[in-house]
Amino acid sequence: MNASRQKIILFGGTFDPIHNGHLTVAADAFARLEAHRLFFVPARRSPHKSDGPFASGDDRLAMIRLAIEHHEGFEADDCELRRAEPSYTLDTVLYFREQFGRSAALFWLVGADAVRTLEHWYRIEQVLEQCRLCIMHRGRMPRPDLSRLIPVLGATRVARLENDILPTPRVDISSTEIRTRLAAGKSVESLVPAPVRDYIRQKGLYGLKR
Ligand code: ATP
Repeated sequence: MNASRQKIILFGGTFDPIHNGHLTVAADAFARLEAHRLFFVPARRSPHKSDGPFASGDDRLAMIRLAIEHHEGFEADDCELRRAEPSYTLDTVLYFREQFGRSAALFWLVGADAVRTLEHWYRIEQVLEQCRLCIMHRGRMPRPDLSRLIPVLGATRVARLENDILPTPRVDISSTEIRTRLAAGKSVESLVPAPVRDYIRQKGLYGLKR
C-alpha cells in the first residue's frame, strides 16, 4: 500500500476513562470511512472542560491500550500528553500530517456535543483545511444543527461539515456517568471493557475502593 494514500482517523478526547461509547463509534467510523488506521489521542486536559482529567495521562493511556488490544487498526498516540500546554488540535493534526505526508487523508472524529465549542477551537479554519472533521451522532442528542456556525465559518465550510456527519450508532454512555457510578460503588459492567474495569479496580481510580 502506498503510505501517502492512507486514510488515517484521529480520535482526540480526555478518555477519562475510555468507554464502550468511544469504542462503538470509533469502530463504526473506521468501517464507514474504510480507514487504514485509527489513533486515539488522549489530551492532557480539554480546553473546553472546567475540571479534570481525574486520572493521570499515563493511566488514561494505559486504559486506552487495554481497550483496543484486540481492535485491528486501532492505536494510541501520546503526542498530546508529551507536549507542553496549551495543546491544540491543530498541533496534533499537523504532527500526523508530517508523519503521513501531504496526500494522506486525515479525519478527526468528534461527538455531536463538540459542536457547541467548535467556533472556539484554535485556528479552526486551518484545522478544517488539514483534515476532514467528522461529527458523530451521540446518545440522545439530536442530529447536530450546524446552521449556527455559518456566520463564523462560512457556508462552504459548514456544508462540508454537514456532508461529513457520520450517523454512528447512538450509545448513551459518558465518562462522567462512569466516574459517578464508580464513586457511588455501582457497576459499570456494560459501559467499560473488562480489562479497563480491572485496571480501574487495581489502581483504585475514580474513588473506587480497592
Ligand atoms: P466526559 O463525560 O468526561 O465529558 P466523554 O464521555 O464526553 O467524557 P471524552 O473523552 O470527552 O468523553 O470524548 C472524546 C470524544 O468522544 C468527544 O469528541 C466526544 O464527543 C466523543 N464521545 C464520547 N462519548 C461518545 C458517545 N457515547 N457517542 C459519540 N461520541 C462520543
